[in-house]
Amino acid sequence: MIKHADSHVDHGLTEGQLRYLLDRFADRAAFFIETIELPEDLGTVPCGLYGPIMGDAPIGDGEVSHARRGTRAWTSRLVDRPARPTRKVTVIAGPHGEPCPQCTTSAWNILHRASCPTCGGIGEVKHPCILYTAFGGPLAPQEPGDPGCKDPEASAAFWRDHALAK
Ligand SMILES: [Zn+2]
Repeated sequence: MIKHADSHVDHGLTEGQLRYLLDRFADRAAFFIETIELPEDLGTVPCGLYGPIMGDAPIGDGEVSHARRGTRAWTSRLVDRPARPTRKVTVIAGPHGEPCPQCTTSAWNILHRASCPTCGGIGEVKHPCILYTAFGGPLAPQEPGDPGCKDPEASAAFWRDHALAK
């Protein structure tokens, strides 16, 4: 697993924590999701998840508001509580392809793609395993409003009782 310009590492991880994850999963070469416990000397990561999976009581509708977080196109179930520190970190990583930087950027190079030394002529550079994202806490099902949501029923059931820190 490598860090890539497309890795999303804006979830409050320190450089040291990120380094640890990259070292620990350096030999991975395929998709994986794993939740691990950071060594004590690396500190904690903020976790915004509330609800039974975190040992809390279910988060009822009376405590919840719905709003968009960041650049997401859908609304999340939000609760007016602070993020909590945790040593648990979930890592999601897997294959990533991008247009070959050498032969897809100029007309001359496109004409000579067949002999491109960077990609072997396929016009794409493939990485077997990049860090997609890493965040504090366990893996939660995708939110029901997420267009990529694969199991809307399970997501709806989970997010009836869970919410995210504002
Ligand atoms: Zn190329």
